[in-house]
Parts: sequence; C-alpha cells; structure tokens
Amino acid sequence: MSEHIAYPSNINIVNTSFLIGMPILAVTSLIYYSLNYGIGWFEPLIFVAFYLASGLSITAGYHRLFSHRTHKAAWPLKLFYALFGAAAFQNSAIKWCSDHRRHHRKTDKEEDPYSVTKGFFWAHIGWVMVDEGEEIVENVADLQEDKILAWQDRNIFLIGFLTGIMLPAVVGFALIGGIHGFLGGLVYGGFVRVVVVHHATFLINSAAHTWGTQPYSTENTSRDSPLLSFLTFGEGYHNFHHTFQADYRNGHRWYHWDPSKWLIKSASWFGLTRDLHKIPPKVIESRRMKRAFDKKTEGSEVELQTQQKFADCMAQLRSGFNELIKRRKEYKAAKLSKKSETKDSWKAIKQGHKSRIKQCKINIASAKKEFKLLVQSMKLNADTKPVTA
Ligand SMILES: [Zn+2]
Ligand SMILES: [Zn+2]
Repeated sequence: MSEHIAYPSNINIVNTSFLIGMPILAVTSLIYYSLNYGIGWFEPLIFVAFYLASGLSITAGYHRLFSHRTHKAAWPLKLFYALFGAAAFQNSAIKWCSDHRRHHRKTDKEEDPYSVTKGFFWAHIGWVMVDEGEEIVENVADLQEDKILAWQDRNIFLIGFLTGIMLPAVVGFALIGGIHGFLGGLVYGGFVRVVVVHHATFLINSAAHTWGTQPYSTENTSRDSPLLSFLTFGEGYHNFHHTFQADYRNGHRWYHWDPSKWLIKSASWFGLTRDLHKIPPKVIESRRMKRAFDKKTEGSEVELQTQQKFADCMAQLRSGFNELIKRRKEYKAAKLSKKSETKDSWKAIKQGHKSRIKQCKINIASAKKEFKLLVQSMKLNADTKPVTA
C-alpha cells in the first residue's frame, strides 16, 4: 500500500525557489570564486558595504521608519531605504510593513503572518514559502500615498536586481577590474550578502520570539536577545520593541548595541531625520519594575506590607524622574539667561543646578536599590518558610 505523503499544495514557487536556490548559488559560486581568485581586501569590503546598506534599510527604514513611524525622514534617506531595502529581497516596503503591522496587532494569533506559535521554522522562513489565500495588503494607506514607496512597490524586483545584484558587480568591476572584480562583487556583495541579510532578519521573527528574557511584558512571545542585536543592527531587544513600538530605539540604553538607533540619531544632526520619538525613562523603568515584581510574586499571595513597600518604590522612582525632568528644564532655561550673570555668579548658579540634578539621580538609584532589596528579602522569606504539604 503506498503511503500518501502530505505536502502543502499552496507552495509559492517563486519565493521557495529563491529561498532555496539563493543559498545554493551563494555557496557554489563562493567555492568557485575562492578556488579561482582567492580572497583579498575588496571582497570583505564589498560584503560589509552592501550588508550595511541593505540591512540598515530594512531595520532603520522598513521597520522603524515606515512600519512604526517612530520618526520622520527626508526624501533622500527614504529613497536610499527604498533602493537598498529592495536589494535585501524582502518584498516592497508597503507589503513588508503591511505584514509587520499585522504581526504587532495580532502577535501570536492566527492572523499573525509569522506567528512563532506555528513553529520556529514557520516563523523563520516557512511563512514566505506558502500562499495562505489572497495576499492581504492592509493598514498601509499612509505608505501607499508616498510617491517613493509606491514607485518602489511597482518596480520592486527590477530595483532589487539592479541595486542588489548588478550594482555590487559593477562596483567590483570598478574597484578591481575585469571578470575577477565583476564576479567578486556579484558573489560577496550580491549572493552571499543576500543570504546573510535574509536569515539575520528572519531570526527576529523566529529566535527573538523563542529565546531570551522578557523584562517588560509576557503578553506575547517576544524576547530580548542582546546577542541577536549584533547580527541584526540592534533588533534583538524585541521584548522592549513589542512593548514600546513607538520608540525609535530598540536598545534604549546608550550602551545597548543598536546601530539602527545610532544611524537614525546621527542622521538627525544632518537634518535627514527629525521628531525622533522616545518613551520616557520613567515609563520604561516603572514597567520593568512592575514586571520584575509580578514575576517574583507570580502565583503566590503577596503580603499587604510587601505590596505597600513596592508601591513606595514605584512612587519614589516616578517622583525621582519627574523631578529630574523639572531640574533639567530649569538648568536649560538658566543657560539661556546666562549672559546676564557675571562669570563668578554663573559658576555658582551652574553648580547649584548640577548638584540638584545629581540629587535626582541619587533618588532614582536609591529607589531602584530599595526595590532590589525588597525582591531579595522576598526571596529570603520564601527560602526560610517551612515547606508545607
Ligand atoms: Zn516592529
Ligand atoms: Zn515580533
């Protein structure tokens, strides 16, 4: 009796061939090229240049600018994102954002296009390989009105081929010359780079919904995996991103590895980006504290006294941040009227402002410390409690 092997009948032939064919092409062409030409300085250079251009166009452009509107950008930057986002071969910005906005609205639900609840493989790449009924493009009217993005959507494959495949080959030809340069650009800046950018991006939908911590929310499967940020231009802080999607940063602390945030911020110094939206630290920190408390007390009854202590910590944290904002404003205003002061009196005024600001920071730090002690004491209580059946 012959077994009937079930396989999806709705395979998207174009996407599937591309996703399987491209890694094969990349590996075979890389072997062929290495045997014939070896590797010099220009192969890594062209790889990194096109990896940065296409990768950042997806993370800073498609994701943080177009999907989430976390800031505004001037048209030359939008054009850059449209050209090099196409080179990443992840569809047009309009279609990418339609899927992504649905992913945020319906995370982990049936309508989530790359829900990890359907498995790691599905979230990573499977969802691109099959057609689930009619293609839905919704909730992107704002992007469809944009002339650059509408043009990119109409010509996505041609633009991708020109900027993602032909351009690196031409750049290689210009740098090194001959078939050597042309092929080097094609293999390193084109084929290999496309595969790396693909899987780095896909990891956000699969790995960043599977491994990592949840410091801000357990409402969905999103996780913070700082390690992933090194591959994905800062997109590894995914639990933060799902909780605060209006923030242009994903790694919100200055030391968090987030090149997309650095690009957006530095572009603002040249007038290329503006209105960068940040969630106030007060909101972020109290969310983190609340989540840590909930995690600690999960499933157990919390004593009234502990609840009160926690509320006190929260109140102290909030007032610390409120005060800090006020003090900083005062200092800023004082700086504006600095000219009317003598040098010595300004020195004293400045010192006063600085020490008041410092005091606010101390208050915030002590609220955090109090909270830490509270959590630790809860652990001790739990440890010393007799075990009852
Ligand atoms: Zn997002
Ligand atoms: Zn996600």
